[in-house]
Amino acid sequence: MTDEIHTIPARRGKAHRVAKGQTVRVINTHGDQVVDTWAFNAADLHEFMSMEHSRAHIMKIIPVVGDTMLTNKRRPILTFVEDTSGGIHDTIIAACDCHRYKFLGVEGYHDNCTDNLHAGMAELGLQAPEVPSPLNLFMNIPVKPDRTISFEAPVSTPGSYVALKAEMDLVIAFSACPQDILPINGVGHPPTEAHYTVTG
Ligand SMILES: [Zn+2]
Repeated sequence: MTDEIHTIPARRGKAHRVAKGQTVRVINTHGDQVVDTWAFNAADLHEFMSMEHSRAHIMKIIPVVGDTMLTNKRRPILTFVEDTSGGIHDTIIAACDCHRYKFLGVEGYHDNCTDNLHAGMAELGLQAPEVPSPLNLFMNIPVKPDRTISFEAPVSTPGSYVALKAEMDLVIAFSACPQDILPINGVGHPPTEAHYTVTG
């Protein structure tokens, strides 16, 4: 049992080994920071949390408390057990990458969630075999009645959190999204850090 608070540094990635039955609490410390989240089977990194497989299981585009996310082998990997953030998350947008920022007109290198995933995993001596579509915690991508989408600021508040229970031994990885071209990490301030705890 530990209540140690771990930091996901602003614009950076972080990964952590989590045992089956433990709960990961992802804290939106400053209130409007998107946290891209991945989970890999600790015994086989080729099995990972999959948004497309999970949506077919939970029958919605945004998971709520009680919903269990599935892997690409359709096995339970993470269950939403608590959510104080307002319940707005995203399962449809790919992780940002160098190509995305080039498309948005950025010249030169820009921090991105794809590189952050690899850097976070590398700190544990691991290599993600691919970059799965992430569970974008706190990310606000409304789907409108005409089925168009837009990038909006989070609705979450400072200190709000999501608690996820591990359904298998896994490696969880986070990226405090460095997107500062679009308003998805709030407006009027640069992207911020976030925090997490692992308990149980
Ligand atoms: Zn990102």
